[in-house]
Amino acid sequence: MAFHSGQASGQGHTHSWYAASSNLKLSRPRLEQHLVADVCIVGAGITGLSAALELAQQGLQVAVLEANCIAWGASGRSGGQMIFGYGCDMSVLEKAAGKNIAKAFWDMSLEGMALIRQRIDQHQIDCNLQDGHLHAAIKPRHMQELQAWQQSLQEDYGYQSLQLWQQQDLHEHIASKRYLGGLYDSNSGHLHPLNYTLGLAQAALNAGVKIFEQSPVIKVDTSTGQHLCHTPKGRIKANYLVYAGNAYLGDLEPRLRSRIMPVGTYIGATSPLGKEQAKKLIRNNMAVADMNYALDYFRFSDDYRLLFGGRVSYTTIAPANLKKTMYKRMTQVFPQLKDITLDFAWGGNIAITMNRGPHFGHLGNDIYFAQGFSGHGIATTNLAGKLMAEAITGQAGRLDLFNQLKHMPFPGGTLWRTPALLLATAWYRLRDYW
Ligand SMILES: Cc1cc2nc3c(=O)[nH]c(=O)nc-3n(C[C@H](O)[C@H](O)[C@H](O)COP(=O)(O)OP(=O)(O)OC[C@H]3O[C@@H](n4cnc5c(N)ncnc54)[C@H](O)[C@@H]3O)c2cc1C
Repeated sequence: MAFHSGQASGQGHTHSWYAASSNLKLSRPRLEQHLVADVCIVGAGITGLSAALELAQQGLQVAVLEANCIAWGASGRSGGQMIFGYGCDMSVLEKAAGKNIAKAFWDMSLEGMALIRQRIDQHQIDCNLQDGHLHAAIKPRHMQELQAWQQSLQEDYGYQSLQLWQQQDLHEHIASKRYLGGLYDSNSGHLHPLNYTLGLAQAALNAGVKIFEQSPVIKVDTSTGQHLCHTPKGRIKANYLVYAGNAYLGDLEPRLRSRIMPVGTYIGATSPLGKEQAKKLIRNNMAVADMNYALDYFRFSDDYRLLFGGRVSYTTIAPANLKKTMYKRMTQVFPQLKDITLDFAWGGNIAITMNRGPHFGHLGNDIYFAQGFSGHGIATTNLAGKLMAEAITGQAGRLDLFNQLKHMPFPGGTLWRTPALLLATAWYRLRDYW
């Protein structure tokens, strides 16, 4: 299997506020030898590191191969919003797997958030976790959707930490006229994703995991019954293989490539606004995401910068003037920031599936994978790593439940799927105007 020529390798962290405020410098060697391990993991984002940590804690020898540096991908660039559920509605999961399994999926999504809290405590990860998240309504139909959502999550899933805020409640918390109300969850929250991922990597290293940076897997040879993962200067022979490259895996495993579509998404960070101004804009320091298909999401950093995300690119090509684009979106929400400049703007790729449900599983021959978080990966990646580790150590039951979600390939193959997706999403984008 050839390495996709468009895939980045050998790079440092993308220029972002996260990279400028990272609190852990980890530098791991390039693989320049032949090694043997129980498990070889491709990709050092949260998915790969979560699996690595769990496996090492069970006494397995684990090697992680990363094409760039630890947390180079989406895990080190994201909005940092830790939210319940998955990239699709629970109704999609109910339809695919039935109510009982959908309930198990729901409980696992909460476990993903609990796992983050537990890891932060256990491994003393300094990543500024803050409680509170709001789904904000822009249109009357959004309020109806939020009300139905709250009812279903309470009655069908027993989730009690939600509050439906009408416009007046909402305006006590956010100084923006754009929103009509929202659904607040005290159990969700936000964190510094790069510092969290680096902390997870440090925990994995402490548990004995070997991580190699600047070491792209260019070929996997399974002909001997074991997995030989080749990098330009070395190779690892392992009994188990885990693909954790998500949107950045390229063509390394074509069976995975056809089920996801990489999509670019972007974030801008203002100059520091100061505690007082930040408290005026978002009183309780929660994270916010709106209900549009092409959504905006935002929150404050610990140095009181507004981190404002949104805008997608189905070609993964960033808008020409990214700061200007993000400034325009931000000032639609907070016109009072018109004199504020953006110090940083960056982007990264998410991997979406056709149904926006996660794509986890087993390819046979002891090969496991987790991908397609569809922009909803902070908690789910932690869970995915744990489920793959469970399966490798003999408890495949929970990972196997995800086989119930059938993932169709994107129409048009790798060449034509972008135009096909653009056509398909045009309708949903139009709905954002109603
Ligand atoms: C801008 C942005 C904002 C987001 N905001 C949020 C949010 O607020 N909340 C939320 O829940 N989710 C969010 N997401 C999604 C979330 O960040 C991702 O779902 C999650 O980080 C995916 O983690 P991962 O470990 O699976 O993949 P990644 O973090 O992308 O890591 C994959 C790694 O694999 C490596 N790799 C790939 N191929 C190879 C190879 N052949 N050899 C070796 N290494 C390889 C890559 O270099 C990369 O470092 C956002 C994503 C982006 C891009």
